[in-house]
Amino acid sequence: MCGVFGAVLPASFGTSGTEAGAVAALGLFALQHRGQESAGLAVSDGEQLMLYKDLGLISSVLDERRLPSLRGRLAIAHCRYSTTGSTVWENAQPTLRLGPRRALAVGHNGNLVNTRELLGRLRGGRTRLPASTDTELLTALLADEPAADTVDALLRVLPTVRGAYSLVVLDERRVIGVRDPHGFRPLVLGRLPAPDQADRGRELWPDPAEDGWCLSSETAGLDIVGAEFVRDVEPGEMVILEEGHPPRSVRFAVATPALCVFELIYFARPDSYMEGRNLYEARRLMGMELAREQPADTDLVMPVPDTGAPAAAGYAEASGIPYREGLVRNRYTGRTFIQPSQTMRQRGVTIKLNPLREVVRGRRLTVVDDSIVRGTTTRQIVELLRRAGAAEVHLRISAPPIYHPCFYGIDTQITTELIAASKSIDEIREYTGADSLGYLSIAGVLKALDLPYEQFCFACFDGHYPEPVPYDASRRKFVLEEDASVAIGG
Ligand code: SF4
Repeated sequence: MCGVFGAVLPASFGTSGTEAGAVAALGLFALQHRGQESAGLAVSDGEQLMLYKDLGLISSVLDERRLPSLRGRLAIAHCRYSTTGSTVWENAQPTLRLGPRRALAVGHNGNLVNTRELLGRLRGGRTRLPASTDTELLTALLADEPAADTVDALLRVLPTVRGAYSLVVLDERRVIGVRDPHGFRPLVLGRLPAPDQADRGRELWPDPAEDGWCLSSETAGLDIVGAEFVRDVEPGEMVILEEGHPPRSVRFAVATPALCVFELIYFARPDSYMEGRNLYEARRLMGMELAREQPADTDLVMPVPDTGAPAAAGYAEASGIPYREGLVRNRYTGRTFIQPSQTMRQRGVTIKLNPLREVVRGRRLTVVDDSIVRGTTTRQIVELLRRAGAAEVHLRISAPPIYHPCFYGIDTQITTELIAASKSIDEIREYTGADSLGYLSIAGVLKALDLPYEQFCFACFDGHYPEPVPYDASRRKFVLEEDASVAIGG
């Protein structure tokens, strides 16, 4: 999973020439939760592209020492969490290719599923790739394509690409937002009013050529830079942003929507909006459904912070059981789920969470979380609560069990790592040490969202992959191990 942001700002936004880079870096700050391994920024001054990227958090990579040298009115930014590629500098994004046909930089959120096939189309093969990501391969294919310009190259290359991709693409004159035909990963368009308009209040018929335009993985990225949400980039659409012009839409494929439902359940920020739903509210409603489907007779409802909080609030509201916080989170550590190694994950939970003994001691607890992936973190949380004196621990999960791996950009690619793929619900309860365990059903998720199943990808819950993958969902086995091994995403 990754975060992407793009910005095009006309001259009215400032004379220093670094505003687009600063806006893109600021927008990216709101997307830090989507990837914490590396960050990068590419800018164009209308003639040439410049890139800075490094391993680490956005605040340490894109700081005040770097930004002044990244001049231009067009910028894209990216933060990365690797799905299977290693955490090395080369794999950080945006990618940059200064080819004989064109120069371009790409930031990618998602994971391609036909990387091997695409590699066969690259002249010179893998040796031409400085990094081992599918994004690097896609960038090379786009840079090589004998086409009139970047838009034309995208129109020729994208029909050969399968899988999940929400892209921000930068060339000398444009920032282009692209969303795959399923729209697995979100991407939104925002308008940044010209500074003089902001001072005077909005004109009735503003000139869109005077405004700045942004692309962001989530609406929270627009909020932080002061941009207003315009609309989603549609599945199968590219939106072309050019200085001095209103955004242009080009459809490159028929939309077959399958937005990752995990974005709404867990991954995206609660203050973001998707499919017209505020995600805090959607998760609160999921918690209410969970209380109806999986009641528990306890003294307190408490969340696993921070992501379990909205569902726990909903659970408490629907059940009438008091809500209290019983675990304190150290705010300055990463998400356990997206730490790259198992050793780090195991250390992660005790670094991250501390129980409030006064709250939990002697109490029967309903503990609400939004997912169980490997089960190791959940087990440690139950153990922490028991050591702090909890009388009973009843786990309630505001998502269905994850039975199948994700090939579209979330780090659940290996079936053996998914606890629900090999254990029954009662075995998971026993493994975690909880007194009871209950999950929300797919029907419950949909009821909370009040949206149809057909709009989403639920593949990791039910094995119905919207885009064919090298995996036999019915047997929970890879059918083409070697294809899976080259699917390296960001
Ligand atoms: Fe999201 Fe699961 Fe589909 Fe992956 S398989 S895109 S995590 S719903």
